[in-house]
Amino acid sequence: MLQHDVVIVGSGLAGMSAALEICEQLDVAIISKVYPTRSHSGAAQGGVAASLGNSEPDSQEEHMYDTVKGSDFLGDQDAIDILTRDAPETIYKLEHMGCVFSRTKEGKIAQRAFGGHSHPRACYAADRTGHAMLHALYEQVMKRSKRITIYPEWYLMSLIVRDNVCRGMVIYDIRNGNLEVVRAIGVIFATGGYGRAYKITSNAFANTGDGIIAAFRAGVPLEDMECVQFHPTGLFGQGILVSEAARGEGGYLVNGKGERFMEKYAPAKMELAPRDIVSRSEQKEIDEGRGIDGKDYVHLDLRHLGKEKIMERLPQVRQLGIDFIGVDCITDPVPIQPTVHYSMGGIPTDIDGHVIIDDKGTKLTGFFAAGECACISVHGANRLGTNSLLEAVVFGKRTGIAALKFAKGPRLPDINEDEVLAPVKEEINAIFTSPGTESINDIRNTLKENMMSNCGVFRGKEGLEKGLKKVRELKRKHKKGKITDKGKIFNNELIEVLELGHMLEFSEVILKGAIARKESRGAHSRTDFPKRDDQNWLKHTLAYLTKNGIDLKYKPVTITKYQPEERKY
Ligand SMILES: Cc1cc2nc3c(=O)[nH]c(=O)nc-3n(C[C@H](O)[C@H](O)[C@H](O)COP(=O)(O)OP(=O)(O)OC[C@H]3O[C@@H](n4cnc5c(N)ncnc54)[C@H](O)[C@@H]3O)c2cc1C
Repeated sequence: MLQHDVVIVGSGLAGMSAALEICEQLDVAIISKVYPTRSHSGAAQGGVAASLGNSEPDSQEEHMYDTVKGSDFLGDQDAIDILTRDAPETIYKLEHMGCVFSRTKEGKIAQRAFGGHSHPRACYAADRTGHAMLHALYEQVMKRSKRITIYPEWYLMSLIVRDNVCRGMVIYDIRNGNLEVVRAIGVIFATGGYGRAYKITSNAFANTGDGIIAAFRAGVPLEDMECVQFHPTGLFGQGILVSEAARGEGGYLVNGKGERFMEKYAPAKMELAPRDIVSRSEQKEIDEGRGIDGKDYVHLDLRHLGKEKIMERLPQVRQLGIDFIGVDCITDPVPIQPTVHYSMGGIPTDIDGHVIIDDKGTKLTGFFAAGECACISVHGANRLGTNSLLEAVVFGKRTGIAALKFAKGPRLPDINEDEVLAPVKEEINAIFTSPGTESINDIRNTLKENMMSNCGVFRGKEGLEKGLKKVRELKRKHKKGKITDKGKIFNNELIEVLELGHMLEFSEVILKGAIARKESRGAHSRTDFPKRDDQNWLKHTLAYLTKNGIDLKYKPVTITKYQPEERKY
């Protein structure tokens, strides 16, 4: 059995930020299924928010208000207050660590405009901001490599919880197929988002929701899972992201009639309205036959920005267009469509990352979560661009501090190794001995199509119920999935079967929550309930796994400064 005082699952910005807080005083380990610098944080493009006011006056209050309004008033305002208050200091700290932000002519950190933000407050490193941040943190982790043990290419299999105390986890060594039990006083999940259940997504292959499902199976509810963000500009047919920075720098959205259609939907903010609004507007144009040549896409036009600006500010975006769909944005408009991008929902936590299992604030002792897998909730029903990198670092750090404080108290918990290994061995054995009559690829593709068409930018009762039925049918098929590699060395097929199981399970939670929420709020847009309904639905969903399936409960939203009002842009 392995043991550490604190074990973190996930080596993205949230996981590494937490580890740096703990390592000077306690023994800490990071487990990651991909090599640490391959975590999805490294793919972030456009920027990280802070009210530095480097290009025009700005304030923490405005950043907070924009975020609350962006969340369609479902965000918890105590958490948003912290997020926006800690932002400037977080940016300066990253800069001092060596994160190379782009500069203004005077040498200050440059800031660009982003959707839903009332001032330019996205700090950026060209359009490779996540890469710059992740590598800056990784260097700090490497500097402390004697204090932080990294398990690269190890896979979380299950979370161990007994008597409402988290005691550790079971992990699988992808390189040789060995299982290990890890005992820990504190466990932090920083396992990222889960967009891969959709056909068109900007998310990395690793974003399959393993962490949230391990927590769910261990008795933790999942919060606001129905709130799935579509980003307005995915490369057509691929979903690969064209950063919002492209519109921040002045890009236009144009329909098949050559109109800048955002004039109709958000005249004041145009292309820089929040993502839920721009995605809906785009989808409406497409659905009503005003896509380019009547097809399922519109154009993002950047040509007027000129070669020099594009090469300085958006070099990666240009290259992605050339590499993946053969379009150079310097000379041609780029075909784009909404792409699944971000998971607002996740593991419920308080403002210090403690996992909270009900509406009364009850903690699961020793269990913490931060970053995209957590729901604090700073993004409510719709995240503003650039607030997520910020969240990962701000709350990764806070969670690290809380876990450190906690783990200094108790002794390492007892674990019965055979007892916790048995269900994991059984799960793997069931996969290896399945009847093998169903194709895993077919199940995955059907799930992705199903989520896209029945639980997309717009959703209605009929489609959602059809979608739910389909997911349940796919879950049954998954049990009979065909697997050809039954070996131990780098068995990617096994990992894919496990991941598909997770995606099916959280898709069911998304659909259940979406059927129940009979209103439209943020990214959750019901065709049959087009209005927000504060009277009945100003509350967070909590989905529990029970013997009889998924049980939905609710908890109130924390409102401090800003009362809900109509959201106009
Ligand atoms: C293309 C793209 C561009 C983006 N651009 C921006 C932007 O410009 N600004 C912004 O604010 N946000 C952006 N975002 C969102 C932002 O990047 C993420 O929300 C954030 O980086 C998440 O960080 P994280 O630390 O929570 O998780 P991640 O960086 O996703 O890391 C997750 C970690 O969990 C590990 N893990 C998961 N499952 C397991 C398992 N079973 N076993 C072991 N390890 C596991 C992975 O190996 C990985 O290390 C973007 C997202 C995408 C997809």
